[in-house]
Amino acid sequence: MECDAEDVDELTAACALCLNEDCGSLVISYRTAGERSSDMWDFMCSRCGLAFSVPEGELVFQSIAVEMLLAKLPHHHA
Ligand SMILES: [Zn+2]
Repeated sequence: MECDAEDVDELTAACALCLNEDCGSLVISYRTAGERSSDMWDFMCSRCGLAFSVPEGELVFQSIAVEMLLAKLPHHHA
């Protein structure tokens, strides 16, 4: 059984610009702390579908507070 919702505090998020010059969308990628095995972040543009990787040092931003993002989303309490 998976219980991903309990691990949100382990998530970090990074943002990069799509490498497609005709697109240029801001793309967000999420990663858990346990996945930090390389300095490359993999992105999939939701606008043009381009998959690309960006070195950690060239990200628009990284390791933002995911809890802040989640706070903007509607929560459903049973
Ligand atoms: Zn794109």
